[in-house]
Amino acid sequence: MTSEKRVVVIGGGLAGLRLAGRLGPAATVTVLGEETHVPYNRVLLAEVLAGRYAPEVTSLPAPGPVLRRGVRAVRVDRADRTVHCDDGTVAPYDTLVLATGSNAVLPPLRGLFEPEGRELPDGVHAFRTMDDCLALSAAVRPGVRAVVIGGGLLGVSAARALAARGAVVVLAQQGERLMERQLDAEASALLATHLTELGVEIHTECRARGLEIQPLRHSRSGSAGATPPAAAPRPGAAAGPRKVTGVELADGYRLEADIVVLACGVRPRTGLAQAAGLETRKGILVDDELRTSDPRIHAIGDCAEHAGQVYGLAGAALEQADALAAVLTGGSAPYTGTRALTRLTLGGTGDDSLDLAAFGETTALPGDDVVRLTDGTRRTYRKVVLRGDRLVGGVLLGELSTVGALARTWEGGEPPHDLFHLLTDDGGH
Ligand SMILES: Cc1cc2nc3c(=O)[nH]c(=O)nc-3n(C[C@H](O)[C@H](O)[C@H](O)COP(=O)(O)OP(=O)(O)OC[C@H]3O[C@@H](n4cnc5c(N)ncnc54)[C@H](O)[C@@H]3O)c2cc1C
Repeated sequence: MTSEKRVVVIGGGLAGLRLAGRLGPAATVTVLGEETHVPYNRVLLAEVLAGRYAPEVTSLPAPGPVLRRGVRAVRVDRADRTVHCDDGTVAPYDTLVLATGSNAVLPPLRGLFEPEGRELPDGVHAFRTMDDCLALSAAVRPGVRAVVIGGGLLGVSAARALAARGAVVVLAQQGERLMERQLDAEASALLATHLTELGVEIHTECRARGLEIQPLRHSRSGSAGATPPAAAPRPGAAAGPRKVTGVELADGYRLEADIVVLACGVRPRTGLAQAAGLETRKGILVDDELRTSDPRIHAIGDCAEHAGQVYGLAGAALEQADALAAVLTGGSAPYTGTRALTRLTLGGTGDDSLDLAAFGETTALPGDDVVRLTDGTRRTYRKVVLRGDRLVGGVLLGELSTVGALARTWEGGEPPHDLFHLLTDDGGH
């Protein structure tokens, strides 16, 4: 690729900026990023919410003038090879890269939206962006009652962070256990014990069905004192601001709430691609060169679907960006998928912290061998799953010194030489 080639990247997140950095002077790159913040790593947002990191700590390497911050792409014209932006500008491209990430899923809860509205009630937050994180952070204080809906990676991170800030936290998880996608039953139970000890009340197999909402009225003095209950708006009257007061569960039980965090998963942002007529399924379909159904347009990161997989993980976003940079600069190695390792530190210092890592298949199939080491005193748990002589997955809690060696063996697809050694010793790495 020569520097006369114009590469436009839509999305200034982890994947888009990694790609821009890798392309360097090999092309004339423009990154369109709708967020106004200095680009940041969203993996670290829970640490910001917990008050352990200042927002600046999450900054990604400065991308320089290639990034147009606060500019949203609103339409792709494939015939003209241009991108139209919300500020009226038009960016012509030779190669276009969609790195639009994903949106938080907003569950179908009764009362979440007004009939024609799109505004979340006061006190209800998603947890995806720096804006979400700062708004949540401003609302939390000791004693505030917070309900987190969703017990996956996001919900667990948010619950832990809110508890660290002194909130009274209830986590409502529809599934049987926490972090079902990554953890086996034992690891999930240990995680639940850890969160319970931090004061988080956990309800599993618990479906939230609606929100209890009140119209928001300020007293004349502006103080937080008692205010008379406001009358319901008349039919046809303009609805005013609303505030959440509780969560209604499917079994009829009610949880009081000043804050509700919606951590119900993410959905790839495919709207621009769909409107431009590109093929999409769960995400934007790409081949082994991260190319969409239009050969001039590529997609990487959370928005892309490769070989049936939408990863939603930082490691995959970075690998895809690197693979695409190689393709665009004349390299030929195909992208064959990412062996995704999930790593999470439920921060804190000393006894109140918990590290966990999971890779591959953590739940054994019939015929698989499982090796487990549990240390009840040190609260560590290590388990690997073997199929034949291959390592197909593992989960570690509390003690991660061996994760590097295990993950390398798993990635390499080689039979492990000395499994016990691998589980107990990191070989100095
Ligand atoms: C709280 C939290 C914790 C997480 N923890 C982990 C973890 O522990 N481990 C892990 O592997 N992953 C984790 N993830 C997931 C990880 O952050 C994502 O996989 C990663 O950020 C994906 O990068 P991306 O560039 O594809 O998308 P994003 O980082 O979402 O970036 C996409 C960017 O594109 C912008 N954009 C979208 N549409 C447009 C448009 N039309 N015009 C202009 N700009 C646009 C968006 O505003 C956004 O800034 C976490 C995510 C969150 C929210």
